[in-house]
Amino acid sequence: MTSLQENRAKAEAYIAQRGETGVMNHINGQSVPAADGATFQTISPVDLRKLADVAHGKSADIDAAVAAAKAAFPAWRDMPGAKRRKILHAVADAIEARAEEIAFTECMDTGQAIRFMSKAALRGAENFRFFADKAPEAQDGKTLRSAGQLNTTSRRPIGPVGVITPWNTPFMLSTWKIAPALASGCTVVHKPAEFSPMTAKLLVEIAEEAGLPKGVLNLVNGFGEDAGKALTEHPDIKAVAFVGESRTGSMIMAQGAPTLKRVHFELGGKNPVIVFDDADLDSAVDAATFMIYSLNGERCTSSSRLLVQESIYDDFTRRVAAVADRIKIGHPLDPETVVGPLIHPVHEKKVLSYFALARKEGATIAAGGEKYGSEGCFVRPTLFTNANNDMRIAQEEIFGPVLTAIPFKDRDEALKIANDVQYGLSAYLWTGSLDTAIWMTERLEVGMMWVNSENVRHLPTPFGGVKSSGIGRDGGDWSFDFYMETVNVSFPLAPHATPKLGG
Ligand code: NAD
Repeated sequence: MTSLQENRAKAEAYIAQRGETGVMNHINGQSVPAADGATFQTISPVDLRKLADVAHGKSADIDAAVAAAKAAFPAWRDMPGAKRRKILHAVADAIEARAEEIAFTECMDTGQAIRFMSKAALRGAENFRFFADKAPEAQDGKTLRSAGQLNTTSRRPIGPVGVITPWNTPFMLSTWKIAPALASGCTVVHKPAEFSPMTAKLLVEIAEEAGLPKGVLNLVNGFGEDAGKALTEHPDIKAVAFVGESRTGSMIMAQGAPTLKRVHFELGGKNPVIVFDDADLDSAVDAATFMIYSLNGERCTSSSRLLVQESIYDDFTRRVAAVADRIKIGHPLDPETVVGPLIHPVHEKKVLSYFALARKEGATIAAGGEKYGSEGCFVRPTLFTNANNDMRIAQEEIFGPVLTAIPFKDRDEALKIANDVQYGLSAYLWTGSLDTAIWMTERLEVGMMWVNSENVRHLPTPFGGVKSSGIGRDGGDWSFDFYMETVNVSFPLAPHATPKLGG
């Protein structure tokens, strides 16, 4: 395993290359500054040092990017799926070839630990491969016969689409949206999060070097209220795929309403991990801690509420606290680090405010509950006990390495607590009883459940939430349904007798 010093030296070199030109927008195959020349800075949460100046795009830049995506659409749409497949596999190869650069850059830009980020670039490549292989059949549909008529359905790419992404694992999440859009024949304007712009530029450059035609993928950096808003309001953008906070989703829905925008939302979560006393408790401790303390807890599917059966609550939460206390906090490029700095001082302030709130609400801080060190955005892995589901620490998405533990008596109470939040993204269930597992999974109000396992992703399965956690599903063929229009054509099977009017 390489050392922190070696990794830092390499990361410095990668970032210096970026820093020279700054992070530009990328429109119609060209690296371009913002139309008005404005820039903003992206900083590293490790030490708040500036990493690069970033083009501050606004509506004029969105207009240019959408025009490029619109012009590139007919040729990309009409390209045979097998050819698109080949290009997208070449993009995946190129991502793999530069996986280290992507991972190291992402670690410095987001604060996520290299032990997790090293896989994120490869998962990005996998996303491209998975959807590339589906490109040749993306337009296929069904044949439906009725008396005298033969109906055939097929799918067509919807047009240029907007993709708006958040700052947690930005590279992987961008590919999760962009790969199926491209595979289905849509062209894309991407607006990445302002806190983590570095790797989005890498993605478009890598894709074009691998053969993606100019204008098919365009990038505009900037803030939600200007670049993001302009993208969602643009009449030539036919659909918006958005990953981010629930309240931003509401704003995007309102902004897109005048142009009847199709939207796909992957939003926030307050996901329960529910542990019954008949579970394999050793595995449950590992899973509960992994799903909240990995990726700094900045993960939509993190298990941020721990619901534990009363009979084992004290012992189980003691074990979780012991793990939280043992976790190594440190530089994201240290191979030993589990928890790195939170994304940005603004987010750190939000997470720290929940430590104060927990005390005010009367919960016990069983682990962590404070900032770590004096430099950068580090906080300690935290466990709140003696909490109940009415507290804000149990209801609101904190989006950090912060777990709220709540006891329950029986399965009725576990279900009631689990469902009593505005969110419904995922749930994790630990029990030795098949009966309990079936009873609970039939009734949990979430889009995804894992029984006796942590979040194990499988690309053909549907990903998405219910309630305030989202609209629509990604993965498998569900992604294509969003980026494509289904059309029906009906043929008569014999000379058709049309009803005669007026005679
Ligand atoms: P955010 O909603 O603040 O920002 C996400 C993106 O939206 C950014 O690019 C931002 O610039 C843009 N944006 C903000 N306001 C906008 C507007 N009015 N119009 C258009 N665009 C706008 O989210 P964040 O803080 O970057 O990310 C964290 C959130 O993302 C958490 O709530 C997390 O749960 C969620 N998330 C969900 C999933 C999922 O699959 N469900 C995955 C990852 C993250």
